[in-house]
Amino acid sequence: MSSSDNRPIAFLDLAAQQKRIEPVLRQRLEAVLAHCRFVMGPEVGELEERLAAWCGARECVGVSSGTDALQIVMMAEGIGRGDAVFLPAFTYTATAEVPLVLGATPVFVDVDPKTFQIDPSHLRSRIQAVKAAGKLRPKAIVGVDLFGQPAPWPELRAIAAEEGLFLMADCAQSFGAELAGKPLGCEATATTLSFFPSKPLGGYGDGGAILTDDPERAALYRSLRTHGEGTSRYEVLRTGMNGRLDTLQAAVLLAKLESFKDELARRDAVAAQYDAGLAGCVQVPVRVADSRSAWAIYAILLKDAAERDALQTRLKDKSVPSAIYYPLPLHKQPAYRDHHDGAALPVSEDLAQRILALPIHPELTNEDVARVIAAVRG
Ligand SMILES: *Cc1c(COP(=O)(O)O)cnc(C)c1O
Repeated sequence: MSSSDNRPIAFLDLAAQQKRIEPVLRQRLEAVLAHCRFVMGPEVGELEERLAAWCGARECVGVSSGTDALQIVMMAEGIGRGDAVFLPAFTYTATAEVPLVLGATPVFVDVDPKTFQIDPSHLRSRIQAVKAAGKLRPKAIVGVDLFGQPAPWPELRAIAAEEGLFLMADCAQSFGAELAGKPLGCEATATTLSFFPSKPLGGYGDGGAILTDDPERAALYRSLRTHGEGTSRYEVLRTGMNGRLDTLQAAVLLAKLESFKDELARRDAVAAQYDAGLAGCVQVPVRVADSRSAWAIYAILLKDAAERDALQTRLKDKSVPSAIYYPLPLHKQPAYRDHHDGAALPVSEDLAQRILALPIHPELTNEDVARVIAAVRG
């Protein structure tokens, strides 16, 4: 083996990406430095139009993070004390944190053992259980497109309609993905995006957006992101927050959007190379039918925790990074366990023991991917 065979592989390579997109990035940043409209400058509106057009949504509202996007959407629905918000137990903490911040109660739902997405039949039984207990009002469902693949949207829409629940999409990991040939972004009444640097479309700091086809809701989101303002700046109509997207972040995202389609294609090619090289050795990601993933995360499953942890150590020795999303399902987290009603969530608990994410990003070369495959097999 040559010495280059042990050069570290990056889990995420923002420096290499920056080099690749440097001319357009500098042009965009210099435009902001020239006009100095750092809050709600023209790049914010331009980005909102580009994102809405990308997924065919009527409205897009740029906000300060994916978490604030969730909060603004829930505030607009008046979600609060006594409300049950149904969401998967196997997701990032932000999905559960926001209902609690607003005084509502997250009701954790188990996920599908193959796709890791929220399990519609368990969701149905959780809604019935909350109704039977009579303590909380079922209010909303948050579908999460975990790891970049779509949640089961047709089923979630049917359940939300039957039960009269508000349906929202946490698309923080999946902007750029497709379901039935259409970009994700219009599957629910409101869709939230995150531009955290490690997401498929990431900025250079925090940022987020909300997509909707409903102009009245969009107007409410715009008011809420700026302290609940009315038609003039010092008219305060409602309790809001400081939840705006920075102009500089919008400029970075506009620069990155120019190569986003190519990056998605590259992520897809990396995933295909992993699939081919790892099949039969570990469980590779099961694709959601009729969809295209944005490949925020490429997660394999091992036999048990011991095998997973041993593999992670072996990879580290070969300078191959890996990560565990998520080491604990949310109902087991210290912050949330007291809010959990005790329902069994065996799939989420099992996945947390056996899952491992391999590097997936557009800057990986075929040789890098081959090295990761050899290290996993080895
Ligand atoms: C990243 C993420 C968020 C939060 O986004 P931030 O921009 O970091 O606030 C919410 N939900 C999911 C599923 C995420 O992965």
